[in-house]
Amino acid sequence: MLKKYNNCTFCNSKKLIKSNKQVYLENYYIKSIITDLNLSKNFLKKIKIYQCKNCFILQNNPWFSENFVRKIYSNIYGQHHRNWENLLNFVNKKQTPNHGNLFELLTKTIKIENYAEFNSPFMGLMLNFFEKEYRKEKSFFKYFSDNVINYLNSRQLAGKSKFEKNISKNKSKKYLDRIKKFKKKIKPVLKNKYLFVDNSPLFWGQNDNYKSVNSRSYASELLDLEVHALSYLKDIKKKLDLFGIFHTLDHTFEPNKVLNYALNASNYVIVYCHIDQKLNKQHLFSFTRKFLDFLKRKRIYTIELTNLINKRLSSPELYFLCSRKKEKILKFKNNAYK
Ligand SMILES: [Zn+2]
Repeated sequence: MLKKYNNCTFCNSKKLIKSNKQVYLENYYIKSIITDLNLSKNFLKKIKIYQCKNCFILQNNPWFSENFVRKIYSNIYGQHHRNWENLLNFVNKKQTPNHGNLFELLTKTIKIENYAEFNSPFMGLMLNFFEKEYRKEKSFFKYFSDNVINYLNSRQLAGKSKFEKNISKNKSKKYLDRIKKFKKKIKPVLKNKYLFVDNSPLFWGQNDNYKSVNSRSYASELLDLEVHALSYLKDIKKKLDLFGIFHTLDHTFEPNKVLNYALNASNYVIVYCHIDQKLNKQHLFSFTRKFLDFLKRKRIYTIELTNLINKRLSSPELYFLCSRKKEKILKFKNNAYK
């Protein structure tokens, strides 16, 4: 069930040094893994925390083999709670995800017309843009959302009789007509929006469902975004203004590739991640603040935003903006402090 991860998942270096602070905390996730995989409590203590001396990420080793990783992220907790919580808070209370005033800061300093995010549609700023596009009361968003869910549900026909299938067909038309009507009210803020996805076993995705509807299908209907495989980023003609990676860079087996693809396709990349020294056993790896020093060595220019966005943090987290172009970061700094 466990496998050796002797190379750093981010930079592939072999310079992993065992940390002298080994912690074992039982949280909801760990308890679920123990119960569902029938493990003894001591089993997970075999997993130790290491730090990469090249890029400074923390990594668990040994850790679960790929088959079990997929089981954990697609079955044991296949639903990405925070992703859906963010969506429900928005449609029910019109609350956007809590990133302090990050959205205001970024839209004030960067002219954003082409925007993309990676893997999770409701973890970043997509809902902020959506809110701006309609500027409606919360009842509008709730009704819109219900119709999207009903539409996608009505297209699920397995096991239904011919009679029921006919009813479903009529329902689909009714819900979709309403959705089209809502969409006529849109005042677009962005020219293009994309959600890029990978199929890493380390990520929820394939079973990230609410009321039998997958978050990606839901997002493509509601938020009018294009969903593409990560490799499609190379074919994008128009350079992106901003690419958002919200709690998803540490949930892929190819974080280096994801970050590089994003940096090549976009002028700016905003990254939000955990930097908890007590790397929990359900995570393969975690970033640290020192990771930014590594990026600097790689000529990736950064500015940390954690303390610029007025967010009260409940756990150690890091927000940073990065770019391959030094002048872009300098320009951002000039505008941000105005
Ligand atoms: Zn490394």
